[in-house]
Amino acid sequence: MNVLVTGGAGYIGSHAVKHLREQGHHVVVLDNLHRGHRAALDAIEQASGKHVPFEELDLRHTEAVTSALVHHKIDCVMHFAALAYVGESVTEPLTYYDNNTAGTLSLLQAMHDAGVRRLVFSSTCATYGEPASMPIVETMPQSPINPYGWSKLFVERILIDYANANKDFAFAALRYFNVAGSAADGTIGEDHEPETHLIPIILEVALGQREHVTIFGEDYDTPDGTCIRDYIHVEDLVAAHSMVMQKLNPADQRFYNLGIGQGYSVKQIVDAAREVTGRDIPAQMGPRRPGDPPSLYANADKLRTEVGWTPSYTDIHRVIETAWRWYRNHPDGYAQP
Ligand code: UDP
Repeated sequence: MNVLVTGGAGYIGSHAVKHLREQGHHVVVLDNLHRGHRAALDAIEQASGKHVPFEELDLRHTEAVTSALVHHKIDCVMHFAALAYVGESVTEPLTYYDNNTAGTLSLLQAMHDAGVRRLVFSSTCATYGEPASMPIVETMPQSPINPYGWSKLFVERILIDYANANKDFAFAALRYFNVAGSAADGTIGEDHEPETHLIPIILEVALGQREHVTIFGEDYDTPDGTCIRDYIHVEDLVAAHSMVMQKLNPADQRFYNLGIGQGYSVKQIVDAAREVTGRDIPAQMGPRRPGDPPSLYANADKLRTEVGWTPSYTDIHRVIETAWRWYRNHPDGYAQP
C-alpha cells in the first residue's frame, strides 16, 4: 500500500515508517519538523539503504497536503502528527486545538479532496479522563481532564460524523497508553525537547545527565503508593497500526485501546531500570503532578480478538533495555555531538 505517515519524523511516527517499510509498504513522510527530527529519517535511510520520500509540510496547509496525497497516490494515511504534552495543553489550549484538532480537520479535507479513504488515527487514553474502574474498556465514558485529551476526543467525534456521511471512508482510532522503548536494532529512538516522560528521564539519570528522578507522589491509593501506568513498546504499537490498517474495510469505524493490559508503578519502573542499567539512579519523593490519575491500564482484548495483535514485549525490563541501548549510544539524541 502507499501510506502517508504524518509526524513521521517524530518518535512514534519514525518507528511506524521503519516498520511499514519493512512490511513492504511504500511510505511517504509528512512532517513540519516542529518537534520531529530529519535525522530520524536519515537514520532509517542509512540503515535500509533506501530513500525515504519526505514532504516538509504543515497539515494546516490543506491544498499542499491534497497535492501530496494525489502526487504520491496515497491509499491510507497514518496520522501521528500532534502536540502531546498534557501540561503545555493546559497553558496553551489554543495551540493544541489548532495543531491537533484543526490540523486533523485540514488533513481530512485534503483526504476528501484527494479521494483518500482510509485513516489510522493516534488517539489517547487521555480521552477517558479519570475512569471509575480499571482496566479501561473501549465502551467506557470518555471525559478528558485536559485540553490535550479533548483535542483528540474532538477528532474522534469529527471522524465519526465524517464517516457517517461518507460510507466509502474507513478509520480506526487507536487510544494509546504509555508508549516506551526504541527500535530493537538501535537505529532510531526517542528524543523529546523538553523531556517529561518517566523512562527517558530515568535513563538520563542513569547516564549522569540528571542528578535524580523525582517520583511524583507516593500517597496514591495503589499498592506502593505511586502511580500505575500501562507501558507498551513502540514496536508493538506500530505493528498494531499496520495490522489494523490491513483490516480496514469501507465504512469501518473502529476504536481500540493500545496497551498491554498490565500496569507498572513508578517505583517498579525505577527498580527495573536500576536492574537493566546496573546504575544507581537516585530517586527523590516529590509532590503529585496535577492531573495524574492514580492508575491507568488497558483492557486490550478487543484488539487481540478482532485484529489478532499480541504484544511481544510484556516484561518491562525488555522494554527498558531497548530504550537504554538507544540512550547509551545517543546520549544527545539526534543532535550532532
Ligand atoms: N513520573 C514521575 N516522575 C517524572 C516523570 C513521570 O514520577 O519525572 C510519573 C508520572 O507522574 C506518571 C508516570 O510517571 O505517573 C508516567 O508519566 P509520563 O509523563 O511518562 O507519562 P503519562 O502517564 O503522563 O502519559
